[in-house]
Amino acid sequence: MPLPAPSLSVVIPCYNEMDGMEELDRRVTSSCAAEAGADYEIVYVNDGSRDGTWSALERLTRTDAHIVAVDLARNYGHQIALSAGLRFCRGERILILDADLQDPPELLSPMMRLMDDGAHVVYGQRRRRPGETLFKKGTASAFYRLLGKLAEIDIPPDSGDFRLISRQVLDVLNAMPERHRFVRGMVSWIGLTQVPILYDREPRFAGETHYPFGKMLRLALDAITGFSIKPLRLASYLGLLTSALSIVMVCYTLVAWFLGDTLVGWASIATIVLVIGSVQLLVLGVLGEYVGRLYMEAKQRPLFAVAQVRRSEPYPAHSSPSPPLGGEGRGEVGHGAVTRTDDLSRMIPPRI
Ligand code: UDP
Ligand code: MG
Repeated sequence: MPLPAPSLSVVIPCYNEMDGMEELDRRVTSSCAAEAGADYEIVYVNDGSRDGTWSALERLTRTDAHIVAVDLARNYGHQIALSAGLRFCRGERILILDADLQDPPELLSPMMRLMDDGAHVVYGQRRRRPGETLFKKGTASAFYRLLGKLAEIDIPPDSGDFRLISRQVLDVLNAMPERHRFVRGMVSWIGLTQVPILYDREPRFAGETHYPFGKMLRLALDAITGFSIKPLRLASYLGLLTSALSIVMVCYTLVAWFLGDTLVGWASIATIVLVIGSVQLLVLGVLGEYVGRLYMEAKQRPLFAVAQVRRSEPYPAHSSPSPPLGGEGRGEVGHGAVTRTDDLSRMIPPRI
């Protein structure tokens, strides 16, 4: 018998978060219990951690039937790990949280009240972010401003993925097949009533950020290419600019030729070659970003593969409007209140 869908799910992607796991689970559990009694689930997604995160999650599933632990087959990155958790969760309302306690789970309660008042999305907007480097804050702020200028939809600045969303929003989100995912932008794209809740972002509870500059840059490129084609127009704008400059240059060249002044000018030639060369490479690079993404999308691979799923009760089959991935008959495996493991062949997600 499939279990009824819980009223609340919390989805938490975890990568090398072993040291903060117990504290995280304690705080999330107490917030959920205060809001939903026993009617909740916490979906932890282990994104190919190299430390003891998976063992810590396994331990938690042994003692707490509210916990679902999903072990991805490798490290897919934050946005895919989050998307995997969103496919597995079954709740009517879904809280998205980071594992490092930078975003306080205690905000669940005011978020729920805003949703009671009709919001479909309640997103955390950061007032302050102590404990993060000036570089991180500066680049994040520059990125949100640039995205605001380029994106064709309004993506609220200074907000991460920390948010409470309704099942209606999640069903649309789960139906979006793209693999270069910028989840907060995809949620904004959906629309419906979306309201902010202001909060101060805490420093990490344990460990270090898993978003070094390279990963941040990739996320920024996914966000910009995912929500704007304006960079493709760069070629036209730069083409217009260099054409205008070349008219001036041709006039100068002709005058110089008539005056017999043709030998001087190596500096201008070198400048032109460098400018045109770099403009062409820049435009090719921008084109490449889009073409590469088209290529990856064209393969239509599944977003992720799952090694195993653990919880202390049988995993319910098709009990939610958007059933978690993993093939048919999930509920047939495992019975009673024992921790169980699904085998890999069942856990390759179908195409969406
Ligand atoms: N994370 C993940 N896979 C990764 C990197 C990060 O699942 O490859 C998780 C991480 O455990 C955390 C969340 O994504 O729960 C956000 O990561 P982090 O706190 O390092 O980012 P920051 O807050 O510094 O932007
Ligand atoms: Mg963090």
